[in-house]
Amino acid sequence: MKKKLAIIGAGIAGLTLANLIKKNSDFEFMLYEKQESLSLDEGYGIQLSPNCIKLLNLIGFGKINNDEIFHPKGVDFLNIKNKKICDLDLTQFNTKECKYTTLHRSTLIEFLKDDVYTQHLRFGKKIKEVSELKGKVLIKFDDNTNDLVDLVVGADGIFSNTRSFFEKKKNEPKFKKAIAIRTILKSKSEINIDDEKISLMLGKNCHLVFYPVNKDKEINLVCIIRDKKYEPENVKSLIEKVVSQNSNLETAFKGDLKSWPLYFTPKIIPSTNNKVFYIGDAFNGFLPTLAQGAGQSIESAYEFFNLIKNDKTDIHNTYFKERSKRAKLVRKRANLNFVAFHFSSSIMQAIRNFFMKFLVKRKSFISSYLGTIYRN
Ligand SMILES: Cc1cc2nc3c(=O)[nH]c(=O)nc-3n(C[C@H](O)[C@H](O)[C@H](O)COP(=O)(O)OP(=O)(O)OC[C@H]3O[C@@H](n4cnc5c(N)ncnc54)[C@H](O)[C@@H]3O)c2cc1C
Repeated sequence: MKKKLAIIGAGIAGLTLANLIKKNSDFEFMLYEKQESLSLDEGYGIQLSPNCIKLLNLIGFGKINNDEIFHPKGVDFLNIKNKKICDLDLTQFNTKECKYTTLHRSTLIEFLKDDVYTQHLRFGKKIKEVSELKGKVLIKFDDNTNDLVDLVVGADGIFSNTRSFFEKKKNEPKFKKAIAIRTILKSKSEINIDDEKISLMLGKNCHLVFYPVNKDKEINLVCIIRDKKYEPENVKSLIEKVVSQNSNLETAFKGDLKSWPLYFTPKIIPSTNNKVFYIGDAFNGFLPTLAQGAGQSIESAYEFFNLIKNDKTDIHNTYFKERSKRAKLVRKRANLNFVAFHFSSSIMQAIRNFFMKFLVKRKSFISSYLGTIYRN
């Protein structure tokens, strides 16, 4: 009999899974989103490494309008005064079909929603109660509708509410004592960066990432600043801490700014119900310092889909084993980058820069540090 799935949450993970099911299987499924619409916030860039472009190609990403994406050639590592430390060639990870790609998050969401929007997406849905019925899971939503399904997939982000219905043990995300500020640059003329590349500026307790998000080379900026508390009304004083290190950066923060606190999940905890799976940030929330959150959301959706499509036995344990192995690898690198990108002491910064210059030229190091992630 055909399996029926409920996917909870229409972010990158949930939408990717919906597309994989729709285009490559005959399972029945419905995507339940708590908001009344999809968040198509324009000014938020996203980087997608070749590992996830390979998977997105399975659902037709190759057909996306070329003007709406960009393939950065490399990464320039700079100090906060905009002086080059070293650079990394990103094209070494590319293949003809799978290139390192940057784009607006909204472009990705628009692409992912296209084939599932009308028939498979329901808005304003929040789980009220779950129970087991005839070997299936009965989900009741707070608008008094319900669904009886074989499998439930929690794709509802780092603060997953789905977990609270199925798990006794909480997997509370932790505040990393860092804040992210992002914007699209109003003008790039005063910031002297190579707009063919990703520019990573490393400062005292902060780092900035600039990259083009389309062929017009609109530049996205994400700035991560360490601070003990998140107070939205204090964002200006945080920016001052960055600008005091390089006054030319003031113009970078002239546009519409959005800020949010950075959370991560310290533990990777398995689902205790063999009919329930977690993908994306609901499985594990990473720090953004390897730009792999969306990539891992896409990978986790694919790994889960592949197991159910091939009707594998022991899907539950296999999924957790494979996913946690991969998540631990990515987490380790993202955590290490987080430390290295934010040294406050100038001596530590000098030592880091020395090692970066040395390591970035070592093929075996790059292949093991990044190749294992980007070429999966
Ligand atoms: C500063 C920053 C920069 C980043 N940059 C990058 C980058 O360059 N590249 C990259 O790969 N990743 C990046 N990421 C990470 C990436 O954005 C996330 O990891 C990714 O979006 C997670 O996708 P998701 O679908 O798992 O969760 P989410 O995007 O959080 O989506 C969850 C969905 O579930 C819905 N939902 C929540 N609760 C419920 C509920 N109770 N019922 C129903 N629906 C619910 C939400 O409304 C939402 O639509 C960045 C993150 C940060 C913080």
